[in-house]
Amino acid sequence: MVRNIQIRVSLKEEGQIGLKAKTAKHLGVAEEEIEIKVQRRSIDARKPSIYFNYKLEVYINEPMPTTGGYMFEYQDVSKAKPIHIIGFGPAGMWAALRCLELGYKPIVFERGKNVRERRRDLKAINRDHIVNKDSNYCFGEGGAGTYSDGKLYTRSLKRGDVRRVFESLVHHGATEEILVDAHPHIGTNKLPKIVQNIRETIISHGGEVHFNTKVTDFIIESNRLKSIVLNDSKDLEVEKVILATGHSARDIFYLLQKKKIALKAKSFAMGVRVEHPQHIIDSIQYHCRGERHELLPAAAYSLVHQAKGRGVYSFCMCPGGFIVPAATSPGEVVVNGMSPSKRNNLYANSGIVVQIDAERDLYKYEKYGELRALEYQKDLERLAFTAGGRSQVAPSQRLTDFVEGNLSTDLNPTSYQPGLKSAPLHSLLPKLIGSRLRVGFSEFGKKMKGYYTKEANIVGVESRTSSPVSIPRNEHLEHPEIKGLFPCGEGGGYAGGIVSAAMDGERCAEAASEGL
Ligand code: FAD
Repeated sequence: MVRNIQIRVSLKEEGQIGLKAKTAKHLGVAEEEIEIKVQRRSIDARKPSIYFNYKLEVYINEPMPTTGGYMFEYQDVSKAKPIHIIGFGPAGMWAALRCLELGYKPIVFERGKNVRERRRDLKAINRDHIVNKDSNYCFGEGGAGTYSDGKLYTRSLKRGDVRRVFESLVHHGATEEILVDAHPHIGTNKLPKIVQNIRETIISHGGEVHFNTKVTDFIIESNRLKSIVLNDSKDLEVEKVILATGHSARDIFYLLQKKKIALKAKSFAMGVRVEHPQHIIDSIQYHCRGERHELLPAAAYSLVHQAKGRGVYSFCMCPGGFIVPAATSPGEVVVNGMSPSKRNNLYANSGIVVQIDAERDLYKYEKYGELRALEYQKDLERLAFTAGGRSQVAPSQRLTDFVEGNLSTDLNPTSYQPGLKSAPLHSLLPKLIGSRLRVGFSEFGKKMKGYYTKEANIVGVESRTSSPVSIPRNEHLEHPEIKGLFPCGEGGGYAGGIVSAAMDGERCAEAASEGL
């Protein structure tokens, strides 16, 4: 007999009895009579007594079938018609994988390097403050998703098949836990191998992935994309092109604007990253003093407050993680967060950002037309560069000093490798952002007692939360003015994370294959 049940297991029970014994007791059968398959696992830490909630499939006196996982039918596409893909982030990777299933040959151009070579450039940013414009935390194999937290939750459930994306991650090396965890994540130590496996699948089935290959121009004739220019030197004739260059490919936005191809300024969010010692967040979320229970993961949080008509909210919270320098050009400071799979670093960091309305808030930037939000974003990143001392050192302040308007005489230790410099962010940040952040942080301190503390630093600036520009597309996911061009993923404004970008990549591959 097979039973589907939901069961709550206390922390103590989880540690001492175990899930199987508890399930057997719950069903009134002997432990040897059952086999269990976890379908969903979450932690309920709302009250001091913490529980694990499980959704289980229980096989009573019946063997549990061995499921081999989802079967991806990747075809040999070596002689198939090509679909060209620009960018090898999640959108580009999943577009390429979908092409293999549909029987088209994906030919990918990626400006950055493969994951292994990319790592050296990350070291150079962190240690020597040198930013390579084509190889950094945003550009290179796997895109912005490789050296990230690898959080996999998405609100875009209606936009595609989330489960399929998770299954393909497992197929390429992620642990099966991501299929059952309520808040799955992979971790930056595991992502490079998965990304590399995806590349190997593409190549072994006849697709192509070209690194160090930047698309620098589009040749358009009679409103049709005729060819793309690679590295300013080689023209390549194309029929269908998926443009998956991400939210940091400013040269692509400038190129489209120069060619008078329709773009639209997009509302987005910017702010700072806040970093607490992880034990403070653990003690608030798990109602404990000192160390969290060994069975509990580093605690996360999610906060939101409406301040003066704009949302202030936590973004990309990384428990047990690191703040990283995510600039893509010299002369700017941009911070973001990542964490290893065990989330065992000593710090908890999160973006705390303010909604920016591209219509209402940026009237001073009107002269930049549809790139006004992008120019505003650039100004903030330059400000952080100057305030940090013109390297990758980031401007910082103790959280309490920021809210109370004092310059910090010293700062807390940090995970941010290039280092921090005390700066009066309370007066440097534009009022639109700074004043709302100060209200937001005070309110967050009321919602989470202990969050508002001088033991936390804020670090500037968190500016790449999503794209400041969107590239329009019609119901066939094609640019309304340029036949053959399929704007895709986060850069087009159609995704906001790894999973939603991957799903959009799949959809664009399907759309591009129509009528080919
Ligand atoms: P991208 O990942 O940005 O990929 C675009 C690719 O295009 C890049 O590789 C770039 O090099 C390439 N490219 C750009 N211009 C050109 C050109 N002209 N020619 C050729 N190639 C070009 N999201 C989550 O869901 N969970 C997380 O935990 C998470 N953590 C993050 C941590 C960090 C540090 C960062 C930076 C981002 C994080 N994100 C996270 C966001 C996530 O990575 C992005 O939403 C996602 O990668 C977007 O996918 P994409 O394919 O649309 O674009």
